[in-house]
Formats: sequence, structure tokens, C-alpha cells
Amino acid sequence: MQPEITRELFDKVILPVYSPAKFIPVKGKGSRVWDQDGNEYIDFAGGIAVNALGHCHPRLINALHQQSEQLWHVSNVFTNEPALRLAKKIIDNTFADRVFFANSGAEANEAAFKLARYYAAEKYSPYKTKIIAFYQSFHGRTFFTVSVGGQAKYSDGFGPKPADIIHVPFNDLNAVKAVMDDHTCAVVLEPVQGEGGLTSATPEFLKGVRALCDQYNALLVFDEVQCGMGRTGSLYTYQQYDVVPDILTSAKALGGGFPISAMLTTNEIASVMHPGVHGTTYGGNPLACAVGCEAFDIINTPEVIQGVEKRRAIFIEQLESINDKFKVFREYRGKGLLLGAELQPKFHSKAREFLNVASECKVMILNAGPNVLRFTPSLIISEDEIKEGMNRLSTAVEKVVNS
Ligand SMILES: *Cc1c(COP(=O)(O)O)cnc(C)c1O
Repeated sequence: MQPEITRELFDKVILPVYSPAKFIPVKGKGSRVWDQDGNEYIDFAGGIAVNALGHCHPRLINALHQQSEQLWHVSNVFTNEPALRLAKKIIDNTFADRVFFANSGAEANEAAFKLARYYAAEKYSPYKTKIIAFYQSFHGRTFFTVSVGGQAKYSDGFGPKPADIIHVPFNDLNAVKAVMDDHTCAVVLEPVQGEGGLTSATPEFLKGVRALCDQYNALLVFDEVQCGMGRTGSLYTYQQYDVVPDILTSAKALGGGFPISAMLTTNEIASVMHPGVHGTTYGGNPLACAVGCEAFDIINTPEVIQGVEKRRAIFIEQLESINDKFKVFREYRGKGLLLGAELQPKFHSKAREFLNVASECKVMILNAGPNVLRFTPSLIISEDEIKEGMNRLSTAVEKVVNS
């Protein structure tokens, strides 16, 4: 007999590191999702900025289907066509000359941080190991990446951490100056902090950090796992700032829902690497790269990229009309469709409650910390879907305000 699959089963069989919503999604199409009982939801969460083309995009289905009849996996003992094709697309559209594929944002960052340390040791000195990172930043959940991340709640409780990592306030150039020295191998940051509350880097800050990195021979690492791949209205966010990093990591939307990540760098930096220094079994998997190629081709078009600002404007207009009624939002944050609505102080620490009530009202949203509602929908969500979802959110807000 098959076991009955219910939300209660989650609490019995899954490691209790999440508390997912009370319903189980079983089907998605575009920006709509259905649960086991056939209820329909509008999806403003996009699988946390992953489903940039919504659910089950016909061209992604086709790419996955075609590749599934060709070749699933060979490991990196052999290379494969989809991986080479995707690497070429990424290189042709960014600063990068070299790509390393992995399966998650954390793994891409792990590779980035190891590369930065290795490069400094090979090129300058084994003592050039300091990594400068920022409070509220998020870089993944492996031990190196939580340690570089600036949130103690994720990094504490697991024993001794990787050493020589220092955190300073984001957007504070003087703070970076105060800790930067010849022993610094890298400065690591998200151009728009995703999990940490959707703070965007100021242009002066990024330019200043770039100059300091050049002065001290340190590498500038941009984590664009969440803000990359069209999300903020350019293919990568650095392209809006006119500041070029030395290493960039990409994941989330890169596979449009299929797990894949990439670390990008230059020939100069890549030149210290040789076979055996770093590796992965699944990285560059043909299925993931075939879907990644198709997602890349769809996202990297003026139609999709330029549609981002238009959609942001509709989102904000709708949020404003909710705000006219209920006075819940203080400010809009982030860039493009990495959009945050900071709650008024009166509702601080209640973001999660808004999220829960929203899902009862059949709209899926996210939070970014305790005080910010986060919207990371499909980049091609329709105006009707935005308005429908916002009607539902308005009902949810009313419930929370009156509770
Ligand atoms: C999600 C995220 C990560 C981690 O990615 P995983 O795929 O969960 O390992 C790293 N950095 C940023 C900025 C992210 O948003």
C-alpha cells in the first residue's frame, strides 16, 4: 500500500530545518500553482527567485525532454556539449573568460572563496588570506559560505569556523578601508542583498570597493546568485553599476528551476588552477546545462530584460494602493523584480505572519528578514496575474491588520 502523502508527513519524515506552508503544491503553470485539493495560487515567490520564466515553460520542458533522450550524466572525467554551449553563452555576455559549473549557489560561492584564497597564496603570499564580507549578507549554507555570510544565526553552533573572515557594515566604504590591508585576498558582496532585507549597494560604494581591491591586490567577488540572470533589469547587476568584479557567482534563475550554478572569472585568475585543485561530480551535468542554455536564451532578450522595470512599476503601483488603505509599508527596496516592501515599524517582526496569511489567501510571497516582504516572481508574469495576486494580498493584509 502507498503511504498517504500529506503535509503532516513532512513533520514526521523530513529533517525539521524548515516550516513549509500548510499546503502541498502539485502543479504549476506560468505564475499559477495548484495544491493537492485543486486550490489555485498566484506565485510571487518564484521558488525564491529561481523560476524566472514561471513554472513549466514550454521551451524549458522541450529542452529537458530532448536532452533526457540524449545523455543524462557523464561526470567531469568527460566533458559534454550542453556544458560547453552554456559556458560559451555566459562568457560571450559577461566579463568572464572561464566558468566553473556546480549545482547550487553555496557550491558556486564555495568555489569562489577557495579560488580567491588559492590565487592569493599562489600569486602573493600564503598569509594573504583575509576575506572582507558584510553584515546581513547571505552566501549559502556550507560551512565556509555561512562563515562568510554576515548572519550569526546561520553560522553559529557548529564549532570552530574557517578563520580570517571579517564583517563590516554594508555600504560603508570607510569601514572597508579600516580593515583592508595587504593580507586581504578578497572582498565579497551581493550587489543587492537578497536574504538580508534587499539593500542595494550604492554606486559610490561599489566603485570605492573596486578601487580598494585594486590598491591592495585583493579580488572583488560579487555574489549574484539571487540578483543575477535578468532579475534586476540587466543580465547581471554589475552591468548597471559599471563596476566589474574579478569573480561572480550565478545560480537560482540560471536553470529556471533546474539546479545549476556557475562561478565566473578571468583567464588571469583561473590560471592558478590545475586539474585536481577543486571539483564536483554533478557540476556541468548535461540535463542542467541543456535547460540552462534554453533559460539563458529566453532571459537574455530585450523583451524579457526590459520587461522587468515595467513589471516592477506595476507591482509598486499595486502595493501603493494596498498601502493607501492599510498603511503597512514604509518603503520599497531592492531592484527590478527583486522587490521588497519594508513594513512600518508597527508591523516589524511580522513579515512571516503576512506570508502565512497570504498563502491562506492563495498568493505565495516571501520575506527577507523579519521586517521586509519580498517579491521575486517570474520575470514574464502577466499584468493580470500581478493584479489578481495583489487583490489576494490586499485581503491578506486586511486580515493581519485587523487581527
Ligand atoms: C540563495 C543564495 C545563495 C545560496 O544558494 P543555494 O542554492 O541555496 O546554495 C547564495 N547567495 C545568495 C545571494 C543567495 O540568494
